[in-house]
Amino acid sequence: MTAAARILVTGSAGRVGSKVVRRLLDAGRAVAGFDLRPAGIEHPAYREVLGRFDDRTAAMDAVSDADAILHLGAFMSWLPTDGDRLFRANVEGTRVLLEEAARVKSRRLVFASSGEVYPENVPDYLPLDEDHPLKPRSPYGLTKLLGEELVRFFERTSDMPATILRFSHTQDAAELLDPESVFSGPRFFLHPKIRQQEGFGNTAAVALLKQADDGREALVLSRNESGRPFQMHITDTRDMVDGILLALDHQAAAGRTYNLGAAEPVDFAAALPGMAELTGLPLKTIDLPGNGVFYRTSNARIRTELGYEPRWTFDRMIEEAAQAWAKRRS
Ligand code: NAD
Repeated sequence: MTAAARILVTGSAGRVGSKVVRRLLDAGRAVAGFDLRPAGIEHPAYREVLGRFDDRTAAMDAVSDADAILHLGAFMSWLPTDGDRLFRANVEGTRVLLEEAARVKSRRLVFASSGEVYPENVPDYLPLDEDHPLKPRSPYGLTKLLGEELVRFFERTSDMPATILRFSHTQDAAELLDPESVFSGPRFFLHPKIRQQEGFGNTAAVALLKQADDGREALVLSRNESGRPFQMHITDTRDMVDGILLALDHQAAAGRTYNLGAAEPVDFAAALPGMAELTGLPLKTIDLPGNGVFYRTSNARIRTELGYEPRWTFDRMIEEAAQAWAKRRS
């Protein structure tokens, strides 16, 4: 690929997409963004298409000069009421986009899938590697698996070499100690967690969380019903951007599927006391109904084949999150 060729980044206003756009522009590459929302990026080598992925006219415009496509945009929701929108954005949107990409003969495709294509919390074995059976347990995970199938279909039929990246859970470091963060708020803070569980209709969890609520904000150490602390990967957006750019440019990545994320999962029992100390918030330990969150995912394949090396450990992320927390409080 020449430096002059344009790279289409979908989800260009999102957490990951916006940073990918900036990194590509900084490297002197021409970029098109495609999102519902503007990314707020002004640059002579950047053009932007605003619209829905399943809107054929918008998709046609977005891919019109794309030599390569990083399909990073998607709708993420676990609310039962969001099913129609989820499948329209992630499945129909991906189909329409790839059909148009095939028409203009885009030469390279990278797709943001998710660890939710596995049954992360009820795995056949751990660590989860790329050969683990794909058995999503959420409609969102199902849309990502269908997206993977669409990607491989267009790769087979349109000569568009593709790389599938199964993303770890991803956060900007500053989000980790931000109760307003879409993910870290309900993951770590009591009041956002109560609101989230109310939205899911999990009445038993809501009752348990409310028992612990004395009206003051608190952090929550979530455990399952047997008292096993939650454990999952949380990867810094900057490390995800590194992996996406490797997948775009590395010869060996075409046709491959990789887990992309931090090497080590976060053990909530080890992490939460330090987070409570940094914030000065009380820490509540709550045993939630069900199996809970507990997995470990291997990133060995992408490290070995592409030389991927994540740099932002959870401890480094928390240091940055603490600075952002202090700044918000001052
Ligand atoms: P994000 O929500 O910050 O960004 C997604 C972007 O896609 C948003 O700007 C949104 O406006 C856009 N979008 C959504 N539906 C659209 C539609 N129908 N048409 C046009 N634009 C649309 O998400 P992110 O954290 O940057 O995630 C990037 C990718 O990684 C997504 O594909 C997501 O599914 C995947 N992923 C994310 C995580 C995570 O923890 N953040 C984990 C696994 C996989």
